[in-house]
Amino acid sequence: MNVLLLGSGGREHALAWKLVQSRGLDTLYAAPGNPGIARVATLVPLDATDHSAVVAFVREHEVGLVVIGPEAPLVDGLADSLRTADVPVFGPSKAAAQLEGSKGFTKDLCLRAGIPTAGYVRVKTREEADIALARTFSLPVVIKADGLAAGKGVVIAFSAAEADAALDALFADGEAEAVIEEFLEGEEASLFVLTDGVSLMPFGSAQDHKRVGEGDTGPNTGGMGAYSPALVLTPALEKRAIDEIVAPTVAAMAAEGMPFSGVLYAGLMLTPQGPKLIEYNARFGDPETQVLMMRFQGDLLATMLATAEGRLGEMPAAQFSDETALTVVMAAEGYPGTPKAGGAIIGLDSARAAGGTVFHAGTRLEDGGLVASGGRVLAVTATGDDVATAQANAYRAVEAIDFAEGFYRRDIGWREIARG
Ligand code: ATP
Repeated sequence: MNVLLLGSGGREHALAWKLVQSRGLDTLYAAPGNPGIARVATLVPLDATDHSAVVAFVREHEVGLVVIGPEAPLVDGLADSLRTADVPVFGPSKAAAQLEGSKGFTKDLCLRAGIPTAGYVRVKTREEADIALARTFSLPVVIKADGLAAGKGVVIAFSAAEADAALDALFADGEAEAVIEEFLEGEEASLFVLTDGVSLMPFGSAQDHKRVGEGDTGPNTGGMGAYSPALVLTPALEKRAIDEIVAPTVAAMAAEGMPFSGVLYAGLMLTPQGPKLIEYNARFGDPETQVLMMRFQGDLLATMLATAEGRLGEMPAAQFSDETALTVVMAAEGYPGTPKAGGAIIGLDSARAAGGTVFHAGTRLEDGGLVASGGRVLAVTATGDDVATAQANAYRAVEAIDFAEGFYRRDIGWREIARG
């Protein structure tokens, strides 16, 4: 079968790397892809916002499955356009992608379905926000813009002055959709579950490192590293999260006429009262996918196709290796502000020789050499019997790479290592 993979990041390189290990794959096309994806797939210049061009490509090249990597095409309804054209697609409809696209939608769904999450109030004006802050919340308090903000629309205010500043920024232009939330204490973990709208297939866990600096300091990023599994999400807690959060969500979405098909990525806070939902994403995480794919032992194409075709219930449970996988993101200087483009990258073969798997995230070829073209540039990934070994293996590979205008965190996996 031919497959079309949409996206260009480290997540998509990891998916491509795993898809080409599937027995049923003939040709993997990728758009727009990146130089790493080009090692395993045929890159095609398709614009994912042009739905009819995507459908025409699929027809012409006999594509049997389209895999949508990032959130923007999902929120834009590309999966609907493909389904209307009878093309199997891995990724939810526009209506179902609201679970990621609108925080207010998700909070209201949690309330209707009794799903544990932070207490919240939706507001549209500064006045409503001030009333909610005065009547309902104590400090710290969490203030979130609705809609896709790539992690940049969330402020945790520890003082009234910080809350004021956040609201000033949010309502600078008058009205805005926002959610004010109770602050949850605990450790975060990411849980992935495949669903075809009816059946669920738990698909592993991971812990991300969102802050740019060591010790989880500095501004938020798209993610500076991750490891899998997240041991803090014990089998008992994972079962609770599925029974109390994910399963009721899938059931409520189906009951409300917007069945969710694809991967539900639940961002959880493990509070003293149990797991609570922080947010949903309607697609795989980046860089969590890099570590999940290193451990997934099944056939990714068969699993994604079963998801797309509503046959997930016939599939065996997903198997993951017992090893820990750990990925270190190498970013361009200046990230997450204004990353410096064009920095030369040398030594990927040495990193591979050192036992690393290098996923490209923001690279391009220039005069035959590899250079940085984005904020997050590479995700250098390795496995080991435990997190300390996986970490040592990943950093050995990182250190084999010469990327003078890049940087990386030296402490990915620190929480797990601190736990011993
Ligand atoms: P992203 O998709 O990049 O994770 P986002 O814009 O969707 O970000 P959230 O995931 O809702 O925003 O929040 C970002 C981060 O803020 C969370 O990962 C968590 O660390 C923190 N956070 C959000 N809500 C709460 C809460 N109620 N209590 C404590 N921390 C929170």
